[in-house]
Amino acid sequence: MEKIIQQFLALVESRNQNEPEFLQAVTEVAETVLPYIVQHDIYYGQNILLRMVEPERVVSFRVAWIDDQEKIQVNRGYRIEMNSAIGPYKGGLRFHPSVNLSVLKFLAFEQIFKNSLTTLPMGGGKGGSDFDPKGKSDTEVMRFCQSFMTELFRHIGPNRDIPAGDIGVGSREIGYLFGQYKRLKNEFTGVLTGKGVSWGGSLIRPEATGYGVVYFTENMLNHHKDSIDGKTVVISGSGNVAQFAAEKCNHLGAKVVTLSDSSGYLHDKDGINEEKLAHIMHLKNVERKRLSAYLEKYPKASFFPGKRVWEVPCDIALPCATQNELEIGDARTLVANNCKAIGEGANMPCTPEAITHFKSNGVFYAPGKASNAGGVAVSGLEMAQNSLRYNWTREQVDDKLKDIMSDIHSSCLHFGEEKGNINYVKGANIAGFVKVADAMLAQGVV
Ligand code: NDP
Repeated sequence: MEKIIQQFLALVESRNQNEPEFLQAVTEVAETVLPYIVQHDIYYGQNILLRMVEPERVVSFRVAWIDDQEKIQVNRGYRIEMNSAIGPYKGGLRFHPSVNLSVLKFLAFEQIFKNSLTTLPMGGGKGGSDFDPKGKSDTEVMRFCQSFMTELFRHIGPNRDIPAGDIGVGSREIGYLFGQYKRLKNEFTGVLTGKGVSWGGSLIRPEATGYGVVYFTENMLNHHKDSIDGKTVVISGSGNVAQFAAEKCNHLGAKVVTLSDSSGYLHDKDGINEEKLAHIMHLKNVERKRLSAYLEKYPKASFFPGKRVWEVPCDIALPCATQNELEIGDARTLVANNCKAIGEGANMPCTPEAITHFKSNGVFYAPGKASNAGGVAVSGLEMAQNSLRYNWTREQVDDKLKDIMSDIHSSCLHFGEEKGNINYVKGANIAGFVKVADAMLAQGVV
């Protein structure tokens, strides 16, 4: 089996050189899915995984715009349309200086499995730009978004490809992108998700990824006869996912003691309660300040520049910032400090070595493609509401989100059973794979 996996990965590597993040994501899937394919005649010999790692389409384009000093700026825009076997392409847009083809292909590949796990009819896609919204004025962000959409609009549509937000793309950016799409097409359609509630958005969409991670982590703990209540939680990041993961942890009786940004981390050992979290949301989302500004109002807390949250002792760790933010040294520290569970809010935040260390030390580990699927699930619910021209209540959407996260957890149990333990990586990968593979086989070689 090892030889089959190595041959497959060597082929993928030879065709995708200089794409380390993409290869990392493919390796994790290949190691768990290829053995399953070999054991199942309907998939064996169909080159099904080789077809899945090849994007159906990659669009790369110039985004020229004028900054506030009237200087011409040029960024690079992308959309990866990875797989449409079970529905139109669906996945976020990321605006961050680190964006390149490798990062977006890894995200689009993960999205295939994640979207399949939600049980909703959505294919996999991802896109974005190396544009950095940080430090830009609102009008600069608007001009950039308008220029970006002036090319992207011809590749997307409510039945073709429906982008959403990701790092650097929040409600402000979705608004500008939607406005430009509507102007170019002269159509009001549900072409983006994460829209404002008064113009087609779904209640609970902003909260969905963060809440979903916590629901999944609670499912995982409940399955092992434990719960989040009373636990100490460290969270990295302080953006959309981190903020709402912290909110749901508070609702469920846990104490959140950290958040972070790319400058360092905040440690409040008394806990970031509801009132303090509301202050952080205002600082980050309205004033667009750095996290360290928290100390101006709460001077008893500490900020550690250039450091990571994983050194703070905890029961549960929720990485909610970015890929490969939790490495083997961090994993060793977490294990040494008796951390019991990891729930990935970000995509691929733990390195393969860190994951192996968690597994071999009995730490429950929830991979992002299962645990952070709540965001795209509620995006799917937003699409359904747009088609119905109807809005569900907050409670209705939250109940559906809880059910979906619980169903994803059950799928992981079903496919992830391994010598009496649950391998959530294997469970998520195989459960996501089966539905897409079956659809691809039914649709022929296309
Ligand atoms: P935001 O842009 O709202 O927040 C990102 C946060 O992560 C910020 O605090 C940011 O700090 C920090 N961060 C980003 N890059 C780095 C870095 N290289 N090193 C340290 N910190 C960093 O993004 P989201 O909260 O939406 O996304 C966070 C993660 O969750 C991503 O991996 C995303 O792919 C994933 N995700 C998001 C979903 C969603 O619905 N939004 C859905 C599923 C997954 P700073 O401000 O300093 O850059």
